[in-house]
Amino acid sequence: MEILPGIHELRDTLAPVFPDPRIWTSVYLLVGEHCAVVDSAVPRSADRLILPYLAKVGIPADRLRSIVNTHGHNDHVGSNVRLREVCGAQIMLHEADAHWLDEGHMFGDDQVPVHQPDRTLQAGDLIELGAATYEVLSLAGHTAGSLGLWDPQARVLFCGDSLQGDGAVTAGLAFYLDPDAYLASVERALALGVEHLCTAHPYAPTTASSHTHGAAEVRDFLERSRDFVRNYDDEIVATLAAAGEPQSAMRIATVACARRGLPTSNFMADRVTQVHLERLAAHGTVRMVAAEPRPLWEVAS
Ligand SMILES: [Zn+2]
Repeated sequence: MEILPGIHELRDTLAPVFPDPRIWTSVYLLVGEHCAVVDSAVPRSADRLILPYLAKVGIPADRLRSIVNTHGHNDHVGSNVRLREVCGAQIMLHEADAHWLDEGHMFGDDQVPVHQPDRTLQAGDLIELGAATYEVLSLAGHTAGSLGLWDPQARVLFCGDSLQGDGAVTAGLAFYLDPDAYLASVERALALGVEHLCTAHPYAPTTASSHTHGAAEVRDFLERSRDFVRNYDDEIVATLAAAGEPQSAMRIATVACARRGLPTSNFMADRVTQVHLERLAAHGTVRMVAAEPRPLWEVAS
């Protein structure tokens, strides 16, 4: 559906890999003389969603000229090759995430074909997509090459998975690989004065939509994104202190997920807990105790 003039949001399921209906990938179609999509979702999305949608709104496939991936994860780049084949569109993503395309990742049973981008992007690049010109922002943290597309006229920011509020309800926690880079990206976004924040999945507290709108609502979302990082540090230390004995990252993540109503942990919660522990260790707050099969952590006294 058209969420803003010339900007359509298309939602594709992540089932059967993530069967929970509360999570999906949003693809944004930007309409102009030439059209663009922000992200291409999973390998089946081109034939299941994107091409039928173009037909439905009367856009010939060869008007789709650009595919911009907000980052290299398999639920964002999955239909790149199919759309390039059918439409002749150019594939673009940040240079720091280009290696993901080269690695032939799977999404469930579906292969994301090994491919190369037609163009790599860097912070500061200006690109015409649909009817507007967007500035490419580096919003690293979720991945090294996570980017934002910023239209300062309409005050719209497309940010993929770069900014996550309190996280996807199905993951329980926000998910990023570099907490310090992530915090810097949140500050960058806070300084812009965004009025329409378009993420690639629904993130709490905006769980019914991938589109947070209104300057105050966006600010609240971004402040929650920032506070999550600080609060999760404190939560980990409190969990370790309460346990009274060294704990694995997975055990700490399981406790955090249970607190948020999830019966088990998941790889995203495990991984973000791991990167927080490494950062807390670098600051001397916790320390690692070598153990098999996986390291354990305790509060540094
Ligand atoms: Zn991602």
